[in-house]
Amino acid sequence: MARYHIETYGCTSNRGESREIERRLRDAGHHRVEGPDEADVAILNTCTVVEKTERNMLRRAAELSESTADLYVTGCMALAQGEEFANADIDGEVLHWDEVPEAVTNGECPTTTPDAQPVLDGVVGILPIARGCMSDCSYCITKQATGKIDSPSIEENVEKARALIHAGAKELRITGQDTGVYGWDEGERKLHRLLDRICAIDGDFRVRVGMANPKGVHGIREELADVMADNEELYAFLHAPVQSGSNDVLGDMRRQHQVEEYLEVVETFDDSLDYWTLSTDFIVGFPTETDRDHEQSMALIRETRPEKLNVTRFSKRPGTDAADMKGLGGTIKKERSKAMSQLKRSIVGEAYAEMVGEVREDALVVEDGTADSVKCRDGAYRQIIVQNASEYGLEPGEFVDLEVTAHETMYAFGEPL
Ligand code: SF4
Repeated sequence: MARYHIETYGCTSNRGESREIERRLRDAGHHRVEGPDEADVAILNTCTVVEKTERNMLRRAAELSESTADLYVTGCMALAQGEEFANADIDGEVLHWDEVPEAVTNGECPTTTPDAQPVLDGVVGILPIARGCMSDCSYCITKQATGKIDSPSIEENVEKARALIHAGAKELRITGQDTGVYGWDEGERKLHRLLDRICAIDGDFRVRVGMANPKGVHGIREELADVMADNEELYAFLHAPVQSGSNDVLGDMRRQHQVEEYLEVVETFDDSLDYWTLSTDFIVGFPTETDRDHEQSMALIRETRPEKLNVTRFSKRPGTDAADMKGLGGTIKKERSKAMSQLKRSIVGEAYAEMVGEVREDALVVEDGTADSVKCRDGAYRQIIVQNASEYGLEPGEFVDLEVTAHETMYAFGEPL
């Protein structure tokens, strides 16, 4: 698990978000340390009240990016002026605060809740459908805590989903170390059947499927794409972490899939869904990654154009096989992660730019944002921010039709119709 350093600037809202980041990191087994030099990851939660504050944020981000830790920048300045960090040549990832815990995981699958029990957080219900996975990735420490896949029955998970919805959940997040292999221990992958049953529960809600490794999804790709096309409750969204565009590196990582299988999953979803979001993860700088391997990863991103992309610089986790491999130098890892993050910003930014002028019906308000805004999710789980939310009387849990009016790199702005 990762050691993290976190710094928070600005208002109570930022402090609340940092507390929530820390709660989720703690639940996933990560540890706080004091100072970036002790840490695998440095988190800077920024403020942007006045110009002097902005200068201070840029200076501090530059200092943190010089440490050995990976830098994640979040908070108001990161979201409102994210390009400033790239323009200042700062080597860090700009993220919404609730994306930070996922990014810290170093490509490992999450241990979302320690005991795999559902959690209701505002209008978001987190539903771990199984514990464990079918893999043995060479860089992963999560596996030591979670073990082999252990799948409760469909009925049991449907009852948990129903209880969350009755308790007020409007967005169900289906999680696990690898949701794509749900049921594998019983001889049948059945994620699609579970989703179909959950969508039949009475109520107005959305369902997001998280963390489905390409190998597990590949065997049910058509069924999964069909169930998404048939049920408007399901976000047209797939998080399939590929981790590398090189089969050699995937082999050294002991991932179960090859690039070709990932491509077939993406093609199937492209064929079945007009509008959907591909979310994937890449680990940059794995010990055996050559320049050519890195170029293959970049080429795979250009080819599949994921609308959501987590880039993690490799760092060793104690007790894993990858920790015994001779690592790449920090400079190489930094250069490669910087290049990939730039590519990510251009591809994800273009996806959001294409949304401007379009109408999104029944977007779900999922949470309050900063400065009288709310965050909404459209049918493909794209983020749309509505400003001056109190003027429109918008509250989390409501559905709203939006016209997309503008965009930033990782989200759009919308106005209620
Ligand atoms: S799929 Fe790989 S990274 Fe995920 S929990 Fe299993 S071994 Fe770890």
